[in-house]
Amino acid sequence: MSNSILVTGAGGFIGGQLVKYLEQQGTQIRAVDRKPFEGWYYRSSTAENSICDLQNLESCYQVSRGVDEVYNLAADMGGMGFIEHNKALCMLSVLINTHLLVAARRNQVNRFFFSSSACVYPDYRQQDTQIDGLQESNVYPAMPEDGYGWEKLFSERMCRHFREDFGLQTRIARYHNVYGPLGTWDGGREKAPAAISRKVALAVLNGTKEIEIWGDGEQTRSFTYIDDCLYGTEMLMRSDFVEPLNIGSDEMVNVNQLVDVVEEIAGVKLKRVYNLDAPKGVRGRNSDNTLIKKVLGWSPSIRLRDGMEKTYSWIYDQVKARAEGRCFIAAYE
Ligand code: NAD
Repeated sequence: MSNSILVTGAGGFIGGQLVKYLEQQGTQIRAVDRKPFEGWYYRSSTAENSICDLQNLESCYQVSRGVDEVYNLAADMGGMGFIEHNKALCMLSVLINTHLLVAARRNQVNRFFFSSSACVYPDYRQQDTQIDGLQESNVYPAMPEDGYGWEKLFSERMCRHFREDFGLQTRIARYHNVYGPLGTWDGGREKAPAAISRKVALAVLNGTKEIEIWGDGEQTRSFTYIDDCLYGTEMLMRSDFVEPLNIGSDEMVNVNQLVDVVEEIAGVKLKRVYNLDAPKGVRGRNSDNTLIKKVLGWSPSIRLRDGMEKTYSWIYDQVKARAEGRCFIAAYE
C-alpha cells in the first residue's frame, strides 16, 4: 500500500467516490479538481483538497510532488448529450493527461492510473443492438467515438509509451457506463441512468405521466455500479497487468429495460415519448469480461436492479430538495 495518493477529478463522480473509498483504508489523499468546492460531490475532511486547472503543466508539477501514486480521473466529459456536441472540449483533456504524465515522470511517481473508456471501441463493432461483448483487442483498427474516444485512445497509448520508454508504471481501465449516487444528474453532462432517474423522480413529484426517451429505446448498453468500478480500479492498480482492461458490467439491457427498472423502483408506469433526434450514441455496447476474469480473478457483478435502487433514491432526494428550494445535498464529511 502506498503512503500518499493524488486523485484528480476528485470533485467529480468517480474521483470523489474514490477519495472516500481510499481514505477508508487509511491512505493519505491529495484531492484535486478545477471546480469550486461547493460543486464537489464529496469533500473529505481528512484529504488535502485543492483547486487548480490540470491542463496547466505547472499545476501538474505542483500537485504530483511528493506523492507515490496518481489516479487520474480528471476529464471534460459527460453523457452522449455532452460529448456529441463538445468534441473539442473533450479532446482538450489531452492536455491534462499529457501534463500529468510529464509531471509524474519528473516527480518520480511510482504508479499512474488512467481512466479510459468504452468509447475507444470502434463504431463498426457497435452497430447492432445484439452484439458480442467488446474485447480489449477489438480496439484496432481504430475508429473510436469522435472527439472524446479519440482522445482516450491517444492518451492510452501515451501511457503505454511513458511506461515502455521512461519506466513510469501505468495502469489503464476502460470504464463502461459507471453510475451511482454522488454523480452528475442534471445540467447536460448526466448519463442515461441518472437522466432517467431524474425524469422519473420529477414525474413522481409533479404527477406527470410521461417520460421522454432519447432514441427508440432499443439501443443496448451495460451499466457498472460505482462500487464495482472502485474495487476493480484498485485491483488493477495493485496488479502487474499493464495493458488496457475493461472494467464494466456485462449485464446488457436496452434503454427501455433500464426505464422498466427505474419505474418499478419508483412504483410508477409512464407513457414513453421517443425523441429520435436526440443524441443516441452507438446502437449496441457490452463489456466482454474474459480478460478481467483471467488477470484479476474477478469481474463486476452488482446487478443493475440493486445499483439503480440506491442511485434512484439519491437522485430522488436531490430532485425533491431542489423543488423545495433546499440546497444541494452533497456528502461532506
Ligand atoms: P466527472 O465529470 O464527474 O468528473 C471529472 C472531473 O474532472 C470533474 O469534477 C471536472 O471538474 C474535473 N476536471 C475537468 N477538467 C479539469 C481540469 N482541467 N483540471 C482539473 N479538474 C478537471 O466524470 P466521472 O464520471 O467521474 O469520470 C471520471 C473519469 O472516468 C473521466 O476520465 C471519464 O472520462 C472516465 N470515464 C467515466 C465513465 C462514466 O461512466 N462515468 C465512463 C468511462 C470513462
